[in-house]
Amino acid sequence: MPMSVAENLQIVRAKILKSCAAGGRSPDDVNLVAVSKFQSDQKIEEALAAGQRIFGENRVQEAYAHWSGKRDQYPDLKLHLIGALQTNKAKEAVSLFDVIEAVDREKLARILGEEMANQGRILPCFIQVNTGEESQKAGISTAALGDFLDYCRQDCRLNITGLMCIPPVDEPASLHFAFLKKLADRYALPERSMGMSGDFEKAIALGATYIRVGTAIFGDRA
Ligand SMILES: *Cc1c(COP(=O)(O)O)cnc(C)c1O
Repeated sequence: MPMSVAENLQIVRAKILKSCAAGGRSPDDVNLVAVSKFQSDQKIEEALAAGQRIFGENRVQEAYAHWSGKRDQYPDLKLHLIGALQTNKAKEAVSLFDVIEAVDREKLARILGEEMANQGRILPCFIQVNTGEESQKAGISTAALGDFLDYCRQDCRLNITGLMCIPPVDEPASLHFAFLKKLADRYALPERSMGMSGDFEKAIALGATYIRVGTAIFGDRA
């Protein structure tokens, strides 16, 4: 019998605590983002009932369907946009989400800056770094990161607080986690979003402050 969302959450939380203890990290510094994309409303309700309050979505429209009606009941909800954002959805994204994790190009940074100023919602943003230098993958190359960070802050007035990465599937994730931590330190950015269902324990050991966990909590996506 498949485990319930509450049971899965308990297991993930126990693993987080264990990894924190093993790595000398404070559990207060490791935030669990439950990735609810393609999951049913019932499972989302189960996660909420089990006390989970930070959720990640990768598409604006689906995120609205899942979350726009839940803010009143759960005022402490924190929604992270973890996927690529089209600039024509920036307005909706800024009004719904609390953290934008995947700022990955100049045009998006500029439009997010304009929207945040218009709406008076200066959200924390992370820059997605293409640590594997994969041509098909979103993200800023390591070489361009310093200039892009300056552009986001000075030209776009974005509140950049961290970095995120999605390691290549065919390489050890640990190398990319360690590298992202080093980059974040180099630019004095306090947040590192890294690690998913299969590797979040390694990510915690290597300095993740946000882990993005979907299937280990909710089961397979529809
Ligand atoms: C879907 C997704 C996740 C969650 O992946 P799981 O393997 O289900 O934990 C994490 N990060 C991003 C960017 C995603 O798109």
